[in-house]
This record gives sequence, structure tokens and C-alpha cells, in this order.
Amino acid sequence: TILKQSTIDMMKTEFINNMTHEIKTPIATIGLACEMLKDNTVDNNESIRSNFVNIISDENRRMQMLIETILQNAKMSNKNFAINRKDVNLHEVINKTANSFKLTLDSKAGEFQIHLEAQSPIIFADELHITNLIYNLLDNAIKYSKESPKIDIRTRSDNNSITLSVKDNGIGISKENLKHIFEKFYRVPTGNVHNVKGFGIGLNYVSQVVSLHNGKIAVESELGVGSSFHITLPLT
Ligand code: ADP
Repeated sequence: TILKQSTIDMMKTEFINNMTHEIKTPIATIGLACEMLKDNTVDNNESIRSNFVNIISDENRRMQMLIETILQNAKMSNKNFAINRKDVNLHEVINKTANSFKLTLDSKAGEFQIHLEAQSPIIFADELHITNLIYNLLDNAIKYSKESPKIDIRTRSDNNSITLSVKDNGIGISKENLKHIFEKFYRVPTGNVHNVKGFGIGLNYVSQVVSLHNGKIAVESELGVGSSFHITLPLT
């Protein structure tokens, strides 16, 4: 019990350190950009001025995303948390979410290969949480990639259920670490080999959304080769 508790304490400390850094950086950047805008010479030059305004708006969006994730996570921990189900077209959600990664993918010379093969893509689900779930899986597939990410996204129909698979050709996860990836705050220790930002809550959130929808999650991974996440959701 003590060992478990101290591991949790360590993970929490690391989470708070990361979080502080992640929030301080955009605030400092926004502060600098504001200072620059106060400068008269900048104010007279439209292209420099709009550059600083863009910086402020980008950094602001980054903080919004961050806070959204934290709030969502806190809500999920609340036992009274309810999901809002309605008919959702999973294929539409996948296409929409995948599109939002276009710029990031282009900048890494990566691509999504999308094969939406399920016959009936309509599920009775919470659209927001399903969107966030897909966002998290695609975000990880890109974040933990090597040079140019090739990510295969597919769906297939089974008896009364639909399975979404996201397969990447990224850094992979060892058997030992794979056991822990759905735990809150867990991040695979990297020894600072790569500098990928994160808080270790994305996959914990994914697994909670899946369980709230009475679904199943499976993962296969090989270190240095890549990972596949399979989410199976009941249609009704
Ligand atoms: P994070 O915010 O750190 O990305 P997640 O909960 O989304 O947190 O993931 C937990 C850990 O699992 C990550 O820190 C990473 O080490 C590992 N991981 C998740 N997805 C992948 C993936 N597609 N490829 C390799 N490692 C992954």
C-alpha cells in the first residue's frame, strides 16, 4: 500500500510540475506579446502587429485546451457524472476529428489512412466524449510517432457493436509499461530521450469514456514498431 501511495504521490508531483510549466509558458508568451504591442513602432506596422496578435490568440487557445482537459478529468472523477446519449454517426465524428489534425500532420509529413468499413456507423453515445476519445487517440498516435507518422484509422462492424482501430508506426510501448498506460497520471518513463508534452490523463479518460458506454478497449504494441488501440462500442 505504501509503495503504491508513494508512486501516486510521485506521479501527482510530476503532473503538477508539468502543469505549472504548461500554464506558465503561454502566460509569459502572451505577456511578452502584449508588451511588444504597447510599443508604438510595432503598433504602426500592420504585419508585425498581426503577428503578435496571432501569437496571443494561439497561446490562448492552447491554454483553453489544457484547462478543458483538466476540467473534463475532474468531472469524470465525480461519481454523479452523467453522459448525454443520442444517435451519433461515428464515421462523421472520425472524419471531423481527423481533419482537425491536418496542419499538424502536414508539418510532420505524416498521413492518416482512413478505412471506414462498418456498415452501420450510428451509435447511441455521448458525442462530445466520443469526439474527445478519438481526439486523444489520434493525438497520441502523432505525438508518439517517429519521423513521418503513418496512421491507420479503421472501423468494422461486429454483432451489435462497432470497433474503431487506430494503428500507428510510432515508438511503441514495452510489455511492462503497457500494463499501466490507462492509469491516471501514468507516463512511460523516457529518461528524457524525447520531449513529448503530456499529463498522463488522456488514456485514463479514454478508458473511462469506453466503460461509461459499456464498451471494451484493447491495445497491442511493440517497442520501436508501433501501437494499435481498438475500441469496441455497442450500437445501442
Ligand atoms: P500523455 O498525456 O502522457 O500522452 P496518455 O494518458 O494519453 O498521456 O498516455 C499515457 C502514456 O502512454 C504516454 O505518456 C505514452 O508514454 C504512452 N502512449 C500513449 N499512446 C501512445 C502511442 N500511440 N504510442 C506510444 N506510446 C503511447
